[in-house]
Amino acid sequence: MNDRHNTVVIGGGLAGLISTYLLAKAGREVLLVEKKSYPFHRVCGEYLSNEVLDFLQREDLLPSQFELPQINRFLFSDTAGKSVSTPLDLGGFGLSRYVLDDHIYHKVLEKGGAVQTGVQVESVVFDEKENLFRLELADGSQLRAENVIGAFGKRSKLDKTLNRAFIEKRSPYIGVKYHIKTDFDRSTVALYNFKGGYCGLNTIEEGKVNLCYLGDREQLRKYGSIEAMEREVLWKNPSLRPFFTDSEFLFDKPEVINEINFERKKPVENHILMAGDSAGLITPLCGNGMAMAIHAGKLAAEAILEGKSREEIEARYVHSWKSLFERRLWLGRKVQRLFGSYQASILTRKLIQHVPFISDQIIKNTHGKPF
Ligand SMILES: Cc1cc2nc3c(=O)[nH]c(=O)nc-3n(C[C@H](O)[C@H](O)[C@H](O)COP(=O)(O)OP(=O)(O)OC[C@H]3O[C@@H](n4cnc5c(N)ncnc54)[C@H](O)[C@@H]3O)c2cc1C
Repeated sequence: MNDRHNTVVIGGGLAGLISTYLLAKAGREVLLVEKKSYPFHRVCGEYLSNEVLDFLQREDLLPSQFELPQINRFLFSDTAGKSVSTPLDLGGFGLSRYVLDDHIYHKVLEKGGAVQTGVQVESVVFDEKENLFRLELADGSQLRAENVIGAFGKRSKLDKTLNRAFIEKRSPYIGVKYHIKTDFDRSTVALYNFKGGYCGLNTIEEGKVNLCYLGDREQLRKYGSIEAMEREVLWKNPSLRPFFTDSEFLFDKPEVINEINFERKKPVENHILMAGDSAGLITPLCGNGMAMAIHAGKLAAEAILEGKSREEIEARYVHSWKSLFERRLWLGRKVQRLFGSYQASILTRKLIQHVPFISDQIIKNTHGKPF
């Protein structure tokens, strides 16, 4: 196998899959390296903002065998279980990553993109003299590439090898996901607050419901297990509790991740174009990390296709990334603070109820426009 590539994409979440798809579609030689094998579950709320609907439909990247739930209402429950519901201007739809990522992976292959799954990239170094990247994979193979897109998500071994500043900071957050069968309004995305975090619910394909929460690592340590923590902390919200006690849980065990970090990151580091969470994770309560990953994947592919030199590619990418995402990420970090505490969640509920203009503005300013 030829070890030299025009572009290597590291990580096959939405950012990596979309950039690979667009490069392959434009006739560029591209290799995507993903450490897991499709299809697989990920911790994610699986609510997709409609800002990506036109793009996904135009590119035929949505599976057609499902009637996807259209979501146009937002329900907010404070830690005491009192709730308020408000319409969503743009809205979204629900679809599992298990289905969506696998579907796009097959579209990448159809367009002639190469994909290596089940193998991790161990290191990536830019060789200034040769003006190319050298990559080492866990199976011992080595690759060279003119361009590298880093789409390896919120936290990867590579962040350490690249000495990225944020990796030194510990994060208090954990993420947990289930698919359940329960009685839940198809047109609503809900956020139930509890001490130290919040839990999202929305319907996905085949009438299943995604239940996904951001919790506090300290609570997990205190109670010793996910189950005990849920009982002692999440169930204290009386509106959230029935989803745990009266639902059918479809996984044998939950999907869990830790060290979820909302620190600032750079969109280009060591000449790597960082796309999706590897360039910055927006707080999940905004419900548009996937839309941002899709959009960033598109921007990275366009920068490589249109830039005439490395400098131009990087400058184009940084400019478009900053103008679309920098403000949203900043506001997301501020909004994150309104959640997970008793007082703040009551205040937020009252705000949504009595001053809907402010919550509408927050939603507008953390979301992008259809593209
Ligand atoms: C609790 C929680 C709930 C969320 N809910 C929502 C929601 O409802 N809606 C929404 O829009 N967003 C949500 N998000 C955010 C969303 O999940 C992310 O923003 C999105 O998945 C980012 O996509 P990505 O492609 O950047 O990264 P990922 O989807 O994480 O993909 C990164 C990929 O890189 C691979 N990888 C990592 N390191 C290597 C390596 N060294 N070599 C090879 N492969 C590697 C990983 O295996 C992974 O497949 C949520 C996030 C959390 C934590």
